[in-house]
Amino acid sequence: MDSSGNSHSGGSDDALGAVAGGASAGETPLRSPRVAIIGAGMSGIAMAAKLRLAGIESFRIYEKCDQLGGTWRANTYPGLTCDIPSRYYSYTFAPNPDWSRVYSPGREIWSYLDRVAGEFALADRLSLGTEVSEGHWLDGRWRLRTSRGEEADYDFIITAAGALVHPVKPDRAWQLQVERTLGRATVKPGFARWWISTACRLHLRSLRDRSLRERFTPGYQPMCKRLIMGTGFYSQFKRPNVELVDAGIERIEPRGIVTRDGRVHELDVIVLATGFDAHAYMKPLELVGRDGVRLSELWDGEPFGYRSVAVPGFPNMFTLLGPHSPIGNQSICTVSETQIEFALALIDIWRRGGAEAMWPTAHATERFNSELRAAVPHTIWASGCMSWYIGKDGVPHPWPWTPERHREMLAQPLLEEWELAPSSVPV
Ligand SMILES: Cc1cc2nc3c(=O)[nH]c(=O)nc-3n(C[C@H](O)[C@H](O)[C@H](O)COP(=O)(O)OP(=O)(O)OC[C@H]3O[C@@H](n4cnc5c(N)ncnc54)[C@H](O)[C@@H]3O)c2cc1C
Repeated sequence: MDSSGNSHSGGSDDALGAVAGGASAGETPLRSPRVAIIGAGMSGIAMAAKLRLAGIESFRIYEKCDQLGGTWRANTYPGLTCDIPSRYYSYTFAPNPDWSRVYSPGREIWSYLDRVAGEFALADRLSLGTEVSEGHWLDGRWRLRTSRGEEADYDFIITAAGALVHPVKPDRAWQLQVERTLGRATVKPGFARWWISTACRLHLRSLRDRSLRERFTPGYQPMCKRLIMGTGFYSQFKRPNVELVDAGIERIEPRGIVTRDGRVHELDVIVLATGFDAHAYMKPLELVGRDGVRLSELWDGEPFGYRSVAVPGFPNMFTLLGPHSPIGNQSICTVSETQIEFALALIDIWRRGGAEAMWPTAHATERFNSELRAAVPHTIWASGCMSWYIGKDGVPHPWPWTPERHREMLAQPLLEEWELAPSSVPV
């Protein structure tokens, strides 16, 4: 289905011609697992394409909305662009030399995803308008139930349900939360952090009006919240019809907004820029793993996992952009692809008959999480501000190390940190 609602009929020869997989002459043929992908955003499309490239054809993508594209379908506000250069926001297996701008518009990113889905002939693998509502690990496989009342069994499930899906509805904290963070500056002190902080402070000086500048100066360090790269924001406040109102919102009435200083601001349109609940990962989907453990109870409102890709006790399940992913540091396309390669390496063990079920050990997950907590104080996110990185335990949850460390830690599975159950063992 393309962005305008048209279905693709087939894939390009270029993309499908690259399909590898299978076994070479003389080798035992590889088994082909049934794989369910939950979500058809950037991550889900990448997973499906990579399955095809690996020669795995037995997969289905479930998408609760009527069109693919995820973030880039759902967000349509004026001026939405990529906040990292678009050339980095492309799949390694589908480079795009045609980006119209360095930071391309959201619609163009949506079209790009749609084009890749077309090139990999994903239309007939997509169940659009179909939400996966439940999943149970039963007798060594996943049984999924959808909002349409269908049931289907899979050997593996890949959650690609997105981290920024559930909008935060404003309560009494009426804060704008549109933020962008850059590179390693966020995760450890040093020259990069100093340099970006200095650039932010110099940029603020472009506001000549001293009192306005003071009102715009945050009470926290640059990058503690996600940093937006853009030079046009402050200059908007030179326009006669633009005003900063920072008195705090008392209430919203049919005629407009009443601020705490008693002023009434009559309005035709109100834009909620109140961000997303990044800790509502996968909600309201309920997954039940080994021994009847419910993911919602295990997480208890604060998702955690093993190295951002898996959860102990939930066999044959991989989480794309899962808990602790490095969402503040780099192109999220790269993060997803790294996680997909890791999942494929483990799926390959299944394909070769090396295991029927696999999940990270509780011990390895605990060790990873305690290392993570020890690293958090070095990050800028822990420097004293409220942001969507911070969980209900008061701790920032994104990957607290460099992007390189993420790639290193997922370069190949450490099998001693995994339970690999052979078929003879009931799991
Ligand atoms: C406004 C905005 C701007 C952004 N800008 C950037 C940027 O410039 N650079 C960058 O790197 N990142 C950016 N991001 C982050 C962005 O979310 C990721 O880059 C990327 O799009 C995430 O892709 P995804 O496929 O993992 O998740 P999503 O794009 O969120 O897709 C998840 C999909 O899963 C579906 N789904 C969820 N649950 C179910 C279910 N139970 N059953 C079926 N379907 C389900 C959803 O409907 C959705 O379509 C931005 C995010 C937002 C919100």
